[in-house]
Amino acid sequence: AHLCDLIPSLQMQTVTLIPGDGIGPEISSAVVKIFEAAKAPVCWEERNVTAIKGPGGRWMIPPDAKESMDRSKIGLKGPLKTPIAAGHPSMNLLLRKTFDLYANVRPCISIEGYKTPYTDVNLVTIRENTEGEYSGIEHVIVEGVVQSIKLITEDASRRIAEYAFEYARNNQRSSVTAVHKANIMRMSDGLFLRKCREVAETYKDIKFTEMYLDTVCLNMVQDPTQFDVLVMPNLYGDILSDLCAGLIGGLGVTPSGNIGANGVAIFESVHGTAPDIAGLDLANPTALLLSAVMMLRHMGHHEHATRIQTACFDTIRDKKVLTGDLGGSSKCSEFTADICHRI
Ligand code: NAD
Repeated sequence: AHLCDLIPSLQMQTVTLIPGDGIGPEISSAVVKIFEAAKAPVCWEERNVTAIKGPGGRWMIPPDAKESMDRSKIGLKGPLKTPIAAGHPSMNLLLRKTFDLYANVRPCISIEGYKTPYTDVNLVTIRENTEGEYSGIEHVIVEGVVQSIKLITEDASRRIAEYAFEYARNNQRSSVTAVHKANIMRMSDGLFLRKCREVAETYKDIKFTEMYLDTVCLNMVQDPTQFDVLVMPNLYGDILSDLCAGLIGGLGVTPSGNIGANGVAIFESVHGTAPDIAGLDLANPTALLLSAVMMLRHMGHHEHATRIQTACFDTIRDKKVLTGDLGGSSKCSEFTADICHRI
């Protein structure tokens, strides 16, 4: 049993920490240090996630990592490498499937003092994470012709719409925009949109709008401030969420959460393992730290979340101690120490 479980009076909650590959261990240890400085009520249970083959030769995540997640329900994850075109499948996808992580949530909020084309972006993309074009249903019809199926179901559409409206309500946000192409994909996106409209009827306190994906892209680069919460099917979310990350300075500063059924959630930085700088103490831990801040809010620890986020933003605004990708020349450890110092 873990210390957290043995001493309930500590009132700390166990979180499964998956450090990941490449820069993962460096940025994870930065987050652990900052959480210690903030006395955040979290006990880390570290687990490696490497691809292993289970019964029948099926790829699976290691049983000790699964067992830890089943128990803690909350995970923080660094990046995991994926071999190209051979070997094991993406462990990120396997984690999503294993824990039915159906909602990918990415808040994109401008960081004061960090120069980007826009200064007041404050929106959240909510992407359906389990179906659409990513259902993995593809086959060759005849030589030279391949069919790839976009799967949209009533249940998954309703579930993600409900999540988006609940998120808006619980995070003091006032509107939800459904992003779709129901003018072309009349049946699939039509179904998605119908479910969004139905769910909207039960959330009268939240304004509902609907917009074509192409119109959203145009409006987004012209004036991102008009958007609040956006909900969309899988493929649109994959692309649009990266576009939105670009508006606030890229993947190095963008947090994300994958929310699942049965209360399970895994928060992760969306950048990769950065093999070119791994082990050199050069990585920027901001994306993983802000993901951990999202995690604290999800757990209801708003005070600790705000304290850590403010310290991180102060360090960035101050510009004295910044990692290379943020335009500075400081090490990951120096950047981390500066944040700890401000807490
Ligand atoms: P990458 O994000 O790892 O790197 C792209 C560039 O951004 C590199 O120059 C890197 O140094 C820089 N970078 C990324 N994160 C940074 C950080 N925190 N601080 C400073 N610089 C940072 O993308 P890639 O090279 O395409 O992918 C490398 C590996 O990561 C691949 O195996 C890929 O499958 C995996 N990957 C994992 C995830 C995930 O686990 N969520 C996401 C994307 C890619």
